[in-house]
Amino acid sequence: MKKITAEPYRIKVVEPIKMSTREEREQWIRDAGYNVFGLKAEQVYIDLLTDSGTSAMSDNQWAGLMLGDESYAGCRNFYNLEATVQDIFGFKYVLPTHQGRGAENIMTQIFIKPGTYVLGNMHFDSTRGHIKLKGGIPVDLVIDEGLDPQSQHPFKGNINVEKMESFIKEHGPDKISFVLITVTCNNNGGQPVSMVNIKSTCEVASKYNIPVMFDAARFAENCYFIRTREKGYENKSIKEIAREMFSYGDGCVMSSKKDGLVNIGGLFCTKHKEIYEQAIQLSIVYEGFPTYGGQAGRDMEALSRGLQEVIQEPYLADRIGQVQYLGQKLKDRNVPIVEPVGGHGVYVDAKRFLPNIPQSQFPGQAIVVALYINSGVRCVELGTSAFAEKDEKTGEMIYPDLELVRLAIPRRVYTNRHMDVVAEGLADIYDRRHELKGFKIVYEAPVLRHFTARFEPLK
Ligand SMILES: *Cc1c(COP(=O)(O)O)cnc(C)c1O
Repeated sequence: MKKITAEPYRIKVVEPIKMSTREEREQWIRDAGYNVFGLKAEQVYIDLLTDSGTSAMSDNQWAGLMLGDESYAGCRNFYNLEATVQDIFGFKYVLPTHQGRGAENIMTQIFIKPGTYVLGNMHFDSTRGHIKLKGGIPVDLVIDEGLDPQSQHPFKGNINVEKMESFIKEHGPDKISFVLITVTCNNNGGQPVSMVNIKSTCEVASKYNIPVMFDAARFAENCYFIRTREKGYENKSIKEIAREMFSYGDGCVMSSKKDGLVNIGGLFCTKHKEIYEQAIQLSIVYEGFPTYGGQAGRDMEALSRGLQEVIQEPYLADRIGQVQYLGQKLKDRNVPIVEPVGGHGVYVDAKRFLPNIPQSQFPGQAIVVALYINSGVRCVELGTSAFAEKDEKTGEMIYPDLELVRLAIPRRVYTNRHMDVVAEGLADIYDRRHELKGFKIVYEAPVLRHFTARFEPLK
């Protein structure tokens, strides 16, 4: 029998949550234009909107805040952070940024010439935005299994390396500005990328002299999957795996709001002096002097300590274990989810959940709204609302392959009893799924529309 384990921490401070009634929630979500981004956080019971910036810090991180050195240049917390990143990531040059997208801005300005392609497994939405704003063309080359919600492939974030090489040959290496490997692959469910795949992606890129960067927001979770699923890594430490993984690339961007175990911040790292020098110039105009880059000294201290905690094996086992716990509960009630469950959340397959609602009527949004009204749980649509795009030539809507609803789990914040409430609520909705109706959009912004769109339910 498997030994029962519990959280590898105990609770020292608690944050009460406001409870609400179904009637109140019906009113609130209507006022928010049926978009959960428009809700006040107080109107939410269990907030699974995102795992970004929502982590609970440890007592050691909170203690670190008191050691913040708020000097403009050369504060000690920067040097602590730099040493930690060098130790875990192996990149010599470390630049803090205000958050992940600050680092993306720097990366895309350095590497992209207008009209060139950026190849990757699946580019995150803010990354796509930055690539396009710099005149680049983002190309997703994830393996086919990565787009099949029922495939049991252990590394569904892998890049299709053959496809990548033919793309390079077809368009010419000069037309590729860089390759970006997102670990774990957020857009298809926090799915990991294997070490073998990382290695061969980097080998092909280097054959054509194309730089490789990592989007390392969830690097530790990816390393944990390598350790537990890939042959030859079962006895390596998370740090050893991270060091090997990053050694194949030229640098990384990171949103420290995920595996940094802090609430804000980001990083730009590289092994090359020339790239670092360009990055510093951009940092000074967009982020701040290179020893703070938009972060307070105390925040860098918390990040440095968070990075040391996130690579601890018991932490990761508990973290990934909680996500799998929720996934199993949903499976037990036949709710269709993406399998295997990824690193930072459970993704519900809205196409199988609501086969009668076409993508043009936002089936994912229908689930999100129903779960909020039912249980006060906030999650997010990652399907038509987030990713559908108009074809620039024909004006026709191109719908994403995957129509998902993400239940993202904040790190160290909720207990498994909260997960029980989530699973129960969603299973209830699934049992009466025939009552759900689609939505139409009544307002949308030209880019990243899902954050501010307003919807109306269809009759
Ligand atoms: C969150 C995230 C980003 C952007 O980082 P921010 O800190 O939100 O600006 C980029 N890539 C991935 C994979 C992310 O998860």
